[in-house]
Amino acid sequence: EKLFSGFSKTRNNLSVIDELLLYWNLSDTDRVLDELEEALLVSDFGPKITIKIVENLREDILSGKLKSGSEIKEALKKNVLDLLSNKGSKTELKLGFRKPAVIMIIGVNGGGKTTSLGKLAYRLKNGGAKILLAAGDTFRAAASDQLEIWAERTGCEIVVAETEKAKASAVLSKAVKRGKELGYDIVLCDTSGRLHTNYRLMEELISCKKAVAKVVAGAPNEILLVLDGTTGLNMLPQAREFNEVVGVTGLILTKLDGSARGGCVVSVVDELGIPVKFVGVGEGVEDLQPFDAEAFVNAIFM
Ligand code: GDP
Repeated sequence: EKLFSGFSKTRNNLSVIDELLLYWNLSDTDRVLDELEEALLVSDFGPKITIKIVENLREDILSGKLKSGSEIKEALKKNVLDLLSNKGSKTELKLGFRKPAVIMIIGVNGGGKTTSLGKLAYRLKNGGAKILLAAGDTFRAAASDQLEIWAERTGCEIVVAETEKAKASAVLSKAVKRGKELGYDIVLCDTSGRLHTNYRLMEELISCKKAVAKVVAGAPNEILLVLDGTTGLNMLPQAREFNEVVGVTGLILTKLDGSARGGCVVSVVDELGIPVKFVGVGEGVEDLQPFDAEAFVNAIFM
């Protein structure tokens, strides 16, 4: 329901073609596809995917495979679902067999990193796992306090920096060591979202990755990139950079309950080939859901 209401704007943009499709006949094809192209672009599908979808439909219409407006509409939905399913359907977390599993949560400040980490902790704990949180955003003083609130809210233990100058990698390494000693199942690691330069941030993330790998072979098991769904296509270059430098294993798209621009979900999956593992649909503990491509498609089309 939250996903559905969050995408009301996208649904509205895309609904303009419904009436055209209702009265569609073959001679209308170019006009209908032009309108569809416009609606997809406005909804942040991006030019590459928009052209791919529109040309697929054109081919199927001209070859006689699609014979009515409702068949075109169904084919449109299937095109989007296929794009997501081909590359984005592996939503389960891969946690390996060594304990503790390590999940790093990365992304720029304000995107919803700490909130998503808290919600994920709640979800995994409810699933029966013993969770340890690690406050690896040592750059922003308030970040650790914010994570402590989530630790309290979810009833999870937390490891924080002991001194102001502590390095993020040292905090994460300490947390994973503690996780190993005390038999935790999963260590959830928060990280910085902004340093003096982008280069420093990426350098720090790489050293965090190395630090946890030294404690548990194969860690981090997941590196989840948090992206703000309301930023639309702007999330793409950001996601590309994080992925190139650190190697992202899954995406968490947040704020899909707000006025998210639905098309960017498809663009980011198609462009990066990385699955969306979770979506954020609010600020409460229960507002993180596994990504469901079919529910998504049904939320953006009438
Ligand atoms: P960080 O700087 O990346 O750690 O971001 P925060 O976790 O502090 O989140 C930034 C703001 O976005 C906070 O006010 C959060 O409550 C809010 N937020 C995070 N996720 C969601 C979401 O899924 N939906 C909504 N509506 N707000 C969110």
